[in-house]
Parts: sequence; structure tokens; C-alpha cells
Amino acid sequence: MDLGIAGKWALVCAASKGLGFGCAQALVAEGVNVVINARSEGPLQQAAEKLRAVGADWARANGQKAPEVLAVACDITTAEGRAAVLGVAGGPGVNFDILVNNAGGPPPGDFRDWQREDWLKAVEANMLTPIELIKAVVDGMAARGFGRIVNITSSAVKAPIDILGLSNGARSGLTGFVAGLARSEIAARGVTINNLLPGRFDTDRLRATFAGVAQKTGQAIEEVRAEQAAGVPAKRFGRPEEFGAICAFLCSQHAGYVTGQNILPDGGMYPGTY
Ligand code: NAP
Repeated sequence: MDLGIAGKWALVCAASKGLGFGCAQALVAEGVNVVINARSEGPLQQAAEKLRAVGADWARANGQKAPEVLAVACDITTAEGRAAVLGVAGGPGVNFDILVNNAGGPPPGDFRDWQREDWLKAVEANMLTPIELIKAVVDGMAARGFGRIVNITSSAVKAPIDILGLSNGARSGLTGFVAGLARSEIAARGVTINNLLPGRFDTDRLRATFAGVAQKTGQAIEEVRAEQAAGVPAKRFGRPEEFGAICAFLCSQHAGYVTGQNILPDGGMYPGTY
């Protein structure tokens, strides 16, 4: 299926690896120009090289110019970082057609140990940063009659995870805000906003949590991994490419009637009917 978005410009945040990279890869494979970001320069440039190879394949297959891949090393949770990605030379300024919001998740813990600072950090990264970026691009999208915004949140928004209170709270705040904005006047102007709620996906973030559990329980990391996979009805973890494919579809011309939704790729883990 041609997604109908070749030549569009996408900003994909926190995309040197994991789910963000999966989304960037799926978009470049459709001929979309991307600006990607992450804090560490080396891995970011390596990711950009991989994306350029994907773009070259798309260009050969379609007899067209390869999509642009621009990489900006910065912390997206800071005002300077956001200004850098929006102002990168050769990029579209604030005229992005597609925005994929993502950032690292807050640490686990017990809420009794968290100070005000910990909460502010989580809200800054996982609620206010996406809202600031949406604010920067949404009116331009509406004026041009096309926009796709996807926020990477977490299955914890639907089924809270006790030790991830900072994530449960901050991401639910974003979800509530987006629910209202998606249904506002922008809905009639070609702009959709949806949230993608990953269950367990095989990324460095998930692998780091196995190491934490292993340390706590004295199990081998492989044992923890097997146990966690066994707890998913699909009996495996999701792959970042699968996640990226859903994101690209939500960004496509075909998904123009899907807005304000919370989409849960989790291998069947969420136990509810609705
Ligand atoms: P990951 O594999 O660890 O990748 C995180 C990416 O984000 C890296 O490219 C990292 O690069 C970048 N990043 C982190 N903080 C950043 C910042 N402040 N500014 C710019 N870039 C930043 O993680 P992931 O599994 O893809 O997770 C992505 C998001 O989904 C996280 O919020 C996570 O909590 C959430 N999530 C993941 C899962 C899962 O199963 N994987 C499940 C539920 C929710 P640098 O470190 O170089 O900045």
C-alpha cells in the first residue's frame, strides 16, 4: 500500500534507536524527509546513515530523489533543544507535516521517594515537551490542510504499572490534553493527533529493565527475559519495525479519519474487552 506521504517532512524525536528509530525508518521507507534527534551525537549520526540507506533504496525503487535525513543532537526536553530541531538548516522550520513525539521515559521507583523536582522532570519530558512541539507546528498544519501527530506514550496510560508512577501520571496528563485538542477545530482541517501506547517492545529500554529485575531477584537476565515474554499472550516482545509500521500508517493519507485515539500494540497484554 502506498501511504501517500512521500515528500512530506517529519520531525521524529528521540530517534537514534528503539521505537523512535522504528518510526523514522518506516517513514523514510515511504519517501518522507525526516529530522531526527537524540542527545548522543555518535549513535544519532549512525542512525542517520542507516536511514539514508533506507531512503536510497526507496529512491531507486521509485525513480525519485532520496528523502532528506537531518540529524540534530540535542535534548528535546529543553527549550534550546526544541528550538534546534525546529530551526535546523535545510529543514522545514516549523512547517512540519508530521510530528512524532518521543523522549526517554521517567525512572521507576516508589512515590514516597520522589521529590517535587522528580515530578517536574517527568511532566517536562513526557507531557510539556510534546505539548510545546504540537503548539509549534499544529496551526501551520491546519493552514496547509494536512498534519499528522503521533505521541509515543505507554501501555501504562491504560493499565498503570505501580513502579512507574511518574510515567502513569505525566503521560496521562498528555493523553487528557490531546483528547481535547484532537477533537477541536483542527479535526476539520486535515490534522489528526493520536497516541501509540507500546506494551513490551524489544529495545534497550526494555533490556535495561530486565537487568534491574535480575539484580533485585538474583535471577539471570535471560530468565527474566523469558518470564516477561511468557507473560505476553503473543509470547514474544514487539519489534520496533512493527511499531514503526503502525506509526507510518497513522501518518498516512489513509488514516485521515482516525484522530484522538489511543492505539495499544501490546501483543494482547491489556486484559480488558474495551
Ligand atoms: P530506547 O531504546 O532507550 O531509545 C530511547 C531513544 O530516545 C534514544 O534514541 C535516546 O537517545 C533518545 N532520548 C532519550 N531521551 C532523550 C531526550 N531527552 N532528548 C532527545 N532524545 C532522547 O527507548 P524505547 O524503548 O524506544 O522507548 C521510547 C519511549 O517509549 C520511552 O519514553 C519509553 O519509556 C516508552 N516505552 C517503551 C516501551 C518498551 O517496551 N520499549 C514500553 C512502554 C513505553 P539518547 O540517549 O542519545 O538521547
